[in-house]
Amino acid sequence: MNSNSALISIDYTYDFVASDGLLTTGQAGQAIEKDIAQFTQECIESGMYTVFAIDGHDSNDKYHPETALFPAHNIVGTSGREIYGALGEVYSAHRNDSNVYWMDKQYYSAFNGTNLDVKLRQRHITDLYLTGVCTDICVLHTAIEAYNKGYSLHIPRRAVASFNEVGHEWAMEHFQNVLGAQII
Ligand code: ZN
Repeated sequence: MNSNSALISIDYTYDFVASDGLLTTGQAGQAIEKDIAQFTQECIESGMYTVFAIDGHDSNDKYHPETALFPAHNIVGTSGREIYGALGEVYSAHRNDSNVYWMDKQYYSAFNGTNLDVKLRQRHITDLYLTGVCTDICVLHTAIEAYNKGYSLHIPRRAVASFNEVGHEWAMEHFQNVLGAQII
């Protein structure tokens, strides 16, 4: 890590992780709780720019493609969007730090329809660490767009998860072999 690095923490919310979350990764997501919290805390405390890129959907949005693909999840204004467990505690403790930024997103990729790229370029960020869920959906799509924009990628293996184990393993290989990511 260096001062040109940022952490993008993706969708580790109640709906995506809790046993009764609306689109949960269940045990796979819960298994990374300690590691994602610890890694995130280290990043924030080292001064790294840390973005919580969090899904935010309107209920019954008939124009959004995910409405037909998935059960409703991370609806704006619901507790399903709160950061889960130990990572939630890290976020609460640091939410007002100048290097911590909460960013709503509406699509899989944290870049789509957001000001993320501008925020990163203002800070001369060249390297991105991606954590969260799901490895093969939102983390993957964010990684692909980051690759296309010229960022170098780093993926902490113990801080990403998916409800689809095959998809998870496929995405890990794709990060490394196709997107040139460093798996740590
Ligand atoms: Zn979504």
